[in-house]
Parts: sequence; C-alpha cells; structure tokens
Amino acid sequence: MNLLIIRLLIFAVLFYAGLKLFSMYRQWQRERLTQQHDQQHDGGHMVRCRWCDVHLPEEEALREAEQWFCSSAHRDRFLQEQQSQRDNDTDP
Ligand SMILES: [Zn+2]
Repeated sequence: MNLLIIRLLIFAVLFYAGLKLFSMYRQWQRERLTQQHDQQHDGGHMVRCRWCDVHLPEEEALREAEQWFCSSAHRDRFLQEQQSQRDNDTDP
C-alpha cells in the first residue's frame, strides 16, 4: 500500500516535471522565434516612398534627389511635381 502511494507520488512528480519542462521548451521556442523575427526586421532598413508614403525595404527602393521611392513611376511623378513647382516659383 505504501509502495503504491510512493509510486503514485513519483509518477505525479515526474508528470509535473515533464509538463514544466514542456512549457519551458515552448516558451524558449517562442522567444527564439520572436528574436529571429526582430533580427529580420532590423536587418532590412525600411524607407518611405516620398510619393505614396508606403514603407518598403531599402534594397527594393529607388533613391533620387535625397528621396526614396517605391517605383520609378512614383519617382518620375515626384520629380515632375517638383519641376512644375519650381516653374511656378519662377513665374512672376
Ligand atoms: Zn510609391
């Protein structure tokens, strides 16, 4: 009878330890995943398109006149806009 209780206790302790280890492992895995995600986020510098305000990685963006653009179309439109503004300024 005593032996059975001791066996049950040992089983309960092992079961509890197993659960504890499993939850610790899950948490460690989650932390590692979020760390990887953060590193990926930090790895690529994000820039903002001057024309449409969309955010994109620096390596995918176009740089022109100290500004970033998501596409050549938006770069051209921004430069056109700047050009017309400059023309307006010079008008009397
Ligand atoms: Zn854009």
